[in-house]
Amino acid sequence: MLHLLLGRALMRWLDKISEGPSQAPPPNQPDSVEEPVATHDEPTEEPAADPLDWVYPKVQRRAMGSMFEIYLAGTDREAMLAGGEEALDEVERLERQLSHYRDDSDVARLNIHAKEQWVRLEPRLYELLKRCKELSTATDGAFDITAGPLVKAWGFFKGEGRIPSESELSEILNNLGTERILFDDEDHLVYFTNPKLEINLGAIGKGFAVDVAARTLHFFGVDHAVIHGGQSTIYALGEPPSDYPTEIPGPEVTNDETESPSHIPQHSSLPVGWPFEIKDPRDRETVLETVYLKDEALSTSGNYEQFFEVDGKRYTHIIDPRTGMPVQGMMSVSVIADNAADSDALSTAFFVMGREATEEYCQAHPNIRVIMVEESSADIAVTKIGFG
Ligand code: AMP
Ligand code: MG
Repeated sequence: MLHLLLGRALMRWLDKISEGPSQAPPPNQPDSVEEPVATHDEPTEEPAADPLDWVYPKVQRRAMGSMFEIYLAGTDREAMLAGGEEALDEVERLERQLSHYRDDSDVARLNIHAKEQWVRLEPRLYELLKRCKELSTATDGAFDITAGPLVKAWGFFKGEGRIPSESELSEILNNLGTERILFDDEDHLVYFTNPKLEINLGAIGKGFAVDVAARTLHFFGVDHAVIHGGQSTIYALGEPPSDYPTEIPGPEVTNDETESPSHIPQHSSLPVGWPFEIKDPRDRETVLETVYLKDEALSTSGNYEQFFEVDGKRYTHIIDPRTGMPVQGMMSVSVIADNAADSDALSTAFFVMGREATEEYCQAHPNIRVIMVEESSADIAVTKIGFG
């Protein structure tokens, strides 16, 4: 139906973007693709470019094991592309700094040396670790960046699932916890009080990178954009322009690779913000909720992202750091917060905490919205918090 409203030039542009992801041209290179024009009338010939026409370029890059994409909307194409590329450069820099898979990252260096001596950290990473400790305390240890050794014990670090012995698990449980990370605010120093402590930012790193990317876009004067890191964390900057012409992938609900765009076109009578559909993890045709985001983030943690099965039982990659066991019975948790580091960390935490503890947390933090999908005997149980 949307197509009927659009001019020929825009139709060709839409065809071009629907061919699949394509790298945006470098900012200073002329672009041969026609720009979309005012979308309501039906032009009979190619319109002349107007400097105030809205344009909707997209940039993307593979980083942190996912495809990061930025959908931009505004009138200054060159400035938006420059901001978009710089935002993606920041994401790459953060990957080099935060990854526990790289021997040369700051996190790897911290894991080796902080048990022997105080280690000085770059201020942004220092603040992130402090936020992680706060979130750990606020979630009674359900979110815990020191759960890295548990993730390894269950085989998720190398992607080869295994069931560890009870003694292996209790040995690990005796040696983790963010109370074992000490901070020196004056000099940005960190020290681990336990030699077996090891941090893993897998549950917050992508969200943090999305926040940094959003701040970079803002610095470059971009007022309307959506950024996502592999669809598990999305940040919506400003509002969508009316008649925003393309579809943006929403949260992924299975590990099936086929495309499932779930941003839906905005209509003027609907609430303000970029709309996204949250779908049923068993059936992606069923929409559980349409959410509207404006200067807000949406993260989803799911039992379908990484898992292995033994004797028909699913062992997922999200582990309760209090018991050492992968969480059972939870399918997906989507969280909306005002920044992506928090939404990312909290989606993992609420996955571990379950319904009651999540409701309690949200009573104390009314700005947080949650959609939780649990397995129940024959059906699923959907809990919505903060949706009125
Ligand atoms: P997410 O997909 O954001 O929920 O993050 C899950 C990833 O975080 C896992 O693949 C692990 O690397 C790590 N992780 C697993 N359980 C926890 C936990 N309870 N707290 C913090 N990180 C965790
Ligand atoms: Mg997370």
